[in-house]
Amino acid sequence: MLPYGFGRSYGDSCLNQDGVLLDASHLNRFIAFDEARGILRCEAGVSLEEILDIIVPRGWFIPVSPGTKFVSVGGAIANDVHGKNHHRAGTFGCHVTRFELLRSSGERLICSPQENTELFRATVGGLGLTGLILWAEFRLKPIVSPLIAMQRVQFASLEEFNALSAEADQRYEYTVSWVDILVGGTALCRGLFLGGNHEQAPSKLTARSGKKIPLAVPFDLPAFTLNPLTVKAFNELYYHAQFAKKVEKVAHYEPFFYPLDAIHHWNRLYGRRGFLQYQFVVPFDHGYDAMRDILARIRRSGEGSFLTVLKQFGHIQSPGMLSFPRPGLTLALDFAFGGQKTLRLLDDLDTIVRASGGAVYPAKDARMSGANFRAFFPRWQEFAQYIDPRFSSSFWRRVIS
Ligand SMILES: Cc1cc2nc3c(=O)[nH]c(=O)nc-3n(C[C@H](O)[C@H](O)[C@H](O)COP(=O)(O)OP(=O)(O)OC[C@H]3O[C@@H](n4cnc5c(N)ncnc54)[C@H](O)[C@@H]3O)c2cc1C
Repeated sequence: MLPYGFGRSYGDSCLNQDGVLLDASHLNRFIAFDEARGILRCEAGVSLEEILDIIVPRGWFIPVSPGTKFVSVGGAIANDVHGKNHHRAGTFGCHVTRFELLRSSGERLICSPQENTELFRATVGGLGLTGLILWAEFRLKPIVSPLIAMQRVQFASLEEFNALSAEADQRYEYTVSWVDILVGGTALCRGLFLGGNHEQAPSKLTARSGKKIPLAVPFDLPAFTLNPLTVKAFNELYYHAQFAKKVEKVAHYEPFFYPLDAIHHWNRLYGRRGFLQYQFVVPFDHGYDAMRDILARIRRSGEGSFLTVLKQFGHIQSPGMLSFPRPGLTLALDFAFGGQKTLRLLDDLDTIVRASGGAVYPAKDARMSGANFRAFFPRWQEFAQYIDPRFSSSFWRRVIS
């Protein structure tokens, strides 16, 4: 068996070929809300979207949010997800006060940082393998406005990104960058650095940005739509769409946090063969060299990543034994799937990441080798003791066989 949230993981960590999936989306009730202290308890299949609809009008916000609100609380815990505020708030699991875990034996266990501590640490980031989370309780963040005061700054090299990050991470609660990795030369990349804070001036608290019907990609586009040439052209346009080096504005939180949620079925842009997501982190010590080698390898391959996102993870320790975030530079890329060529490229990137002491994110993986997984997550054996004997996943069988 394997619990299944909304399937927003990109690879096979939420799949269980020839096994049973436990559809957790029916665990969809709110249980308790301490509005004075900002503590919410809900069943594990409730989505972040549903939570935002309830809490934003009451002056609260999700403590850590991934780049889509269409994920469940159980999924957010099982992948110990991170967001744009990792440098300030750590991962989602850092804000979980407790949850109830149902094991296949029928046993129900309350887990928290104080109670069944090791099972708590195994389940946070535990890829759904330790049992079914029935409900969870977590701390929210107070806000007085649904707006985000943001700044967007152009940068022309990786060094400039590093300098901007060091300064902006002090000033901004949320930081992230869109990058163009096809520029070549010693710059390594260029991009737009985004920093944002919750607006401090009170205003009407609304959970939706007021946009009407979301856009939708109606069918799989032809495979050639996203190729290195079109990606290059798009990057050129996007980078220069902002005329000034620095732009400041105030925007609703929705487009700031969840730009892709505005385009339903955006994955169809990649055509029928789809794409592979790839996210890694490399420690600060070796970050620059590893990033240089990785970007050079990608350029040599001739493959373009359409949406590339760069961020610095901060130093707050992730609570899970298998949590992915750790201090360093993290880059998320997506490659239109081109068969063996793409697989070879990603294997080579794994080798560089591994040599630097970094890791690849299981929630965004469909192909890493078992040997690499075990090197990226050295606590896997300690974790394995807590796996429910009747639980497994396609991902787990792939990396531990
Ligand atoms: C557009 C987009 C942007 C994203 N951005 C980010 C990001 O910025 N940061 C980030 O960290 N991730 C990001 N992700 C990945 C996503 O946040 C995670 O994969 C998340 O875990 C998906 O949640 P889900 O509810 O869809 O769970 P699923 O994908 O269905 O499952 C994920 C894991 O959770 C387990 N699980 C689900 N429910 C339960 C339960 N009740 N009990 C126990 N285990 C359970 C499953 O077994 C599986 O191992 C992004 C994904 C997309 C599509």
